[in-house]
Amino acid sequence: MTFFDSSTWDGRISSGGWVRGGGGSADVVEPATGNTIGSYGVGSTEDVSRAVEQGRAAQREWMALPYPERSAVFRRAGQLIDDNADVLSDWLVREAGSGRGKAAFEASLVSGEYFGATAVVEAPYGQLLRTHVPRLSMARRLPVGVVGVISPFNFPAILASRSVAPALAAGNAVVLKPDPRTAVSGGLFFAEVLREAGLPEGLFHVLPGGADLGFALVEHPDVRVISFTGSTAAGRKVGEAAGRLLKRAHLELGGNNALIVLDDVDVPAAVSAGAWGSFLHQGQICMTTGRHLVHESIYDEYVERLTATAAGIPVGNPATTEAPLGPVIDAGQRDRIHDLVTRSGEAGARITTGGTFDGLFYRPTVIADSGMSHPAFAEEVFGPVAPVAKFSTVEEAVALATQSDYGLALGILTRDVMRALDLAERIPSGIVHINDQTVDDEPTAPFGGVGASGTGSRFGGVEANIEAFTETQWVTMQGEIARYPF
Ligand code: NAD
Repeated sequence: MTFFDSSTWDGRISSGGWVRGGGGSADVVEPATGNTIGSYGVGSTEDVSRAVEQGRAAQREWMALPYPERSAVFRRAGQLIDDNADVLSDWLVREAGSGRGKAAFEASLVSGEYFGATAVVEAPYGQLLRTHVPRLSMARRLPVGVVGVISPFNFPAILASRSVAPALAAGNAVVLKPDPRTAVSGGLFFAEVLREAGLPEGLFHVLPGGADLGFALVEHPDVRVISFTGSTAAGRKVGEAAGRLLKRAHLELGGNNALIVLDDVDVPAAVSAGAWGSFLHQGQICMTTGRHLVHESIYDEYVERLTATAAGIPVGNPATTEAPLGPVIDAGQRDRIHDLVTRSGEAGARITTGGTFDGLFYRPTVIADSGMSHPAFAEEVFGPVAPVAKFSTVEEAVALATQSDYGLALGILTRDVMRALDLAERIPSGIVHINDQTVDDEPTAPFGGVGASGTGSRFGGVEANIEAFTETQWVTMQGEIARYPF
């Protein structure tokens, strides 16, 4: 039998083995064709309670295991993902509508998360502190118990794994609620990987379902940390509930990321970077370049070249063609994209290419002469749309860039890197790339946004991961009982 054979998991959730979910089952629908390509189990509120209870019990035994045994699980998981990268890629292509290149890139990022988790298991987990009396004083990090992970559809495998792997590695149990549109590549696949890698039963649960199920996870009193990746609107609700319940919520939310193109660039190179930033995975990335801010001296050439590039990008079924761009995730998302584009045109912006679709295949779109009065510029589109605005002075570029409430990623293209570094300090953004577009991620780098993009919480790197998924305990220890005046 091949790895991750659907006969083992079809129609099921993963919670103490492959079991039927309380919410029944649902179809996996391929966005490119509308065909049903499998089914997954749907979790219920009762499943959440059972998973959390099992997780609490399993977590204590997990922490008691010698650390080499725990880190070996993640090494094996990383290797299994590498060995079966084609299986994961196929699911990312068919279930999430990913182009082949994007799918392969995502699969490689994912195994890096599991290999990287071994470092979380093996890292020092505390500090010796200076203290004014003869005693040992230390701060140590302890797992929180059960971590809830809620993840979106766009990069389903990496956005789940970047929380799941370090949270387990830090000694916790995890209950993952993937987006129902990507239950397989964003959840069930990893249940099989971790089981095969030897993770003890009961520690990791995958419960696909909708917003209600996610909210049940947030509200469960024994889930002490929530790691949420998704829209700002949903993140606000999660954050409000977590605040009321006095639990920590790491919120990785939307973006409307600016790419500032200064007057001294090589325009064809800048256009290529900008096109990649706006169109990769049909623009369905939190870091997508949502606003191109271009100096007036090169503006016309930039718009003309970007238009030509966009018009030449093939869009098609990524499972059966070599097209780098596939479908958007569903009709609701497509209609939202089209509404934002259409209203921007009606408000006076110039649609130089695209603005049309065939089924879920939306043409790469360029909207010139954009500004805050155009909804495709002012809001996060989450589609293959590149709004372009003109500026004359650097002050104006900073003003345009900071008009957005979001603060996730920023790209600055210029030959004068010191000028770019100065600009980067003036524009609130969790991530800045000088001489690159806005989309990038790697397991070793701190990832997070400010403002409406989230709580500035960070993924990436051992320290950030330990910080995110543990609590600090201050411990003092002395040989004899301390003496007091009364
Ligand atoms: P979404 O917020 O609708 O859904 C994301 C996840 O949250 C899904 O699993 C969904 O079922 C769940 N959910 C929705 N409402 C919930 C609620 N009230 N309580 C608990 N769970 C709830 O997001 P989407 O539209 O599917 O995804 C796209 C959004 O995600 C974009 O805004 C994008 O920028 C953002 N995103 C951010 C990052 C990041 O790292 N900052 C990465 C990818 C996507």
